[in-house]
Amino acid sequence: DVVGTSSARRYLKTPMPMPLETTESVVTQQAKLRLESVSRSFKTPRGPLSALESIDLDVREGEFLCLVGPSGCGKSTLLSIMAGLDQPTSGAVWRDGKPVEGPGTDRIVIFQELGLFPGLTVRENVEFGLRMKGTSKQERRVRAQHYLRLVHLSRFEASYIHQLSGGMKQRVALARSLATEPDVLLMDEPFAALDAQTRDLLHEELERIWAETKKTVIFVTHNVREAVRLGDRVVLLTFRPGRIKNEFAITLPRPRHLEDPELTLTARQVHAQLREEINKAVKEEYEANH
Ligand code: ADP
Ligand code: MG
Repeated sequence: DVVGTSSARRYLKTPMPMPLETTESVVTQQAKLRLESVSRSFKTPRGPLSALESIDLDVREGEFLCLVGPSGCGKSTLLSIMAGLDQPTSGAVWRDGKPVEGPGTDRIVIFQELGLFPGLTVRENVEFGLRMKGTSKQERRVRAQHYLRLVHLSRFEASYIHQLSGGMKQRVALARSLATEPDVLLMDEPFAALDAQTRDLLHEELERIWAETKKTVIFVTHNVREAVRLGDRVVLLTFRPGRIKNEFAITLPRPRHLEDPELTLTARQVHAQLREEINKAVKEEYEANH
């Protein structure tokens, strides 16, 4: 009884733990990117156009996040804002708890039109970004070789871009981006123009490289199956203005395959909700023309 009393007293004297506060600050630290009430509107001849409205989003370090939504819903705008290439009209963007005020070497965007230099070799393309950063010649060579090996292109380092297939060009662009060693890869519909077989292969490669390098990836696509194939989480945006309609945690085991029946079932649920947004887009377009 005495022991019980004293231990009760000891317990009462111990300052109360504050689990809520601790949890919250841990979450803040863990968010690689945080969007807080981000809105973006554009001035157009027909008046202001609201492209994004009140986007709140935390992206975990090492997360593979897919953004899906109908064409014109603001996916590219959102990616540009994350990259610091565009500024929100209101709201804030944080990277590792610091405000994003412009582009930085910690984030890199891969656009669908890859921006490779046809007159340079594969290796020169990969080294190009590093030369801009002032990396020494020797270091450039080492890193280019490392990242070309990672994307399985070592044998083609002396080839010119025009000699490569579409899938190989994608891998050069990926190696070039990785060589600058960013924390965050922002990819804007990178595989949209590729044939199905090449895309399958690149999904595998990207999944493997993401697992090996532990980058944070934000991947924009209008293809729901691709999003469910790749993402830890799929965030669905509404048609104009782009708001977050829903989020889906994708817990299917990796590596995944597009033809997995579970993947098809999950994709069907996401697609049903995307469909509602596409219908709105079609309706708006129809009404504008009648
Ligand atoms: P998505 O990538 O989802 O197709 P975007 O982010 O490219 O959509 O565009 C979202 C909306 O914002 C579209 O209606 C588009 O026309 C408009 N928009 C994008 N950039 C500009 C701009 N610089 N000026 C005016 N309107 C823009
Ligand atoms: Mg776009």
